[in-house]
Amino acid sequence: MNVRSTGASRPRPRTNAMTVDVEEWFHICGVGPLSQERWDSLPSRVVMTTRALLEELDRAGARATFFVVGWVAERYPELVGENRASGHDIGSHGHLHTRVHELDPGTFVADLRRSLAALRAAGVERINGFRAPEWSINDPSLWALECLVREGITLDASMAPVRIVGRVDYPRAPHVRHTPAGPIFEVPPLVVDRFGQAMPIGWGWGLRMTSPRRMLHTIESTNAAGLPAVLTVHPWEIDPEPPRVTLPPRLRFAHYFRLGGFRERLAALLSAGDFGALSDVPALQTSP
Ligand SMILES: [Zn+2]
Repeated sequence: MNVRSTGASRPRPRTNAMTVDVEEWFHICGVGPLSQERWDSLPSRVVMTTRALLEELDRAGARATFFVVGWVAERYPELVGENRASGHDIGSHGHLHTRVHELDPGTFVADLRRSLAALRAAGVERINGFRAPEWSINDPSLWALECLVREGITLDASMAPVRIVGRVDYPRAPHVRHTPAGPIFEVPPLVVDRFGQAMPIGWGWGLRMTSPRRMLHTIESTNAAGLPAVLTVHPWEIDPEPPRVTLPPRLRFAHYFRLGGFRERLAALLSAGDFGALSDVPALQTSP
């Protein structure tokens, strides 16, 4: 992160943050037919779909933090360059999009270093932000926070206060976590209580389930309670023709539910809201 286009004016403070996990449509963890050995033979959509997201952000005058999969940065360094030239921040989304709790500290650090090397080779001078694939820093993998600090990462956005991939009692507010290597700033996604459950409404499927107007209302309520809203979208959510594979029911819902019209709803949300990169939001500026 903290990489901005040369000559661009200093970004103004924003109330809320937009983040993008830059990955291919086939970067879905734990699905055999989409295992890493097959990635090079599957049709790539990430350049076209990320460019579409850049267009919508630019049209709305919004900035975002792009957490880029190192495998994508290695193959499409020009795409990382386009993100930078558009003035957005860049962080790491791991190299091979592997859930952290499937790794051990040694293999996690190796994967992280590969991703950072790929981003640097694509021209990103400094990277201080990380998001784990599928929000996979949770109780079995809290050791990863210490690894991140040792590798120079100061902001993590991987811990979700929801049951399916985290814990409902993780804080919903940005906060500092202490590790043996030093502190790290943790930035959770927007979560609200609906139907008696903590729902990660700030993920892309939140906007797929509801309307821009209702999302804006939720964001305003969050801001009124003193919290910034941190949203996340994926390039594959904006794809008008996403390739499809057979997925287990939970993943099928997460990946394919109501993709039609997503681009228009996202455009409406971006233009009506006040979204910046994580580094533009004063409430997210605590440096450990
Ligand atoms: Zn991901």
